Amino acid sequence: MQQYDKNNIFYKIINKEVNANIVLEGKHFIAFHDIAPKAPVHILVIPKGLYVDYNDFALNASDDEIVDFNRGIAEIVKIMRLENHGFKLISNAGKFTTPDFPEPQSVMHMHVHILGKSSEE
Ligand code: AMP
Repeated sequence: MQQYDKNNIFYKIINKEVNANIVLEGKHFIAFHDIAPKAPVHILVIPKGLYVDYNDFALNASDDEIVDFNRGIAEIVKIMRLENHGFKLISNAGKFTTPDFPEPQSVMHMHVHILGKSSEE
């Protein structure tokens, strides 16, 4: 796995050098609207800790970080009212693609995409 490189946009969002449209911030995570949404609701959840991808996070983050991150996703699902229509969680890691999922990881800071549709829509 590659080394974490601080020269990425999510590192700047964590350090408030770049603004994001934040939905929820917890002790160990920040959730904000994706700048190029691919669904009516498209939120990114990122850990505040410096992990390259999901695997790095799952292997090396503390239990506290992992629980806080996952409960954060559940909070977002509730806040954005995604339960009724259902939702998708996607986390790209590295270069792998398939024809149905043609995009590799583009930001090398661990993140989970939450894609869904609010029950208000
Ligand atoms: P991935 O291709 O899985 O690495 O996803 C990176 C995501 O970050 C893409 O969906 C981008 O639209 C999104 N993104 C990039 N820069 C920003 C930004 N400044 N604010 C919000 N989302 C961003």
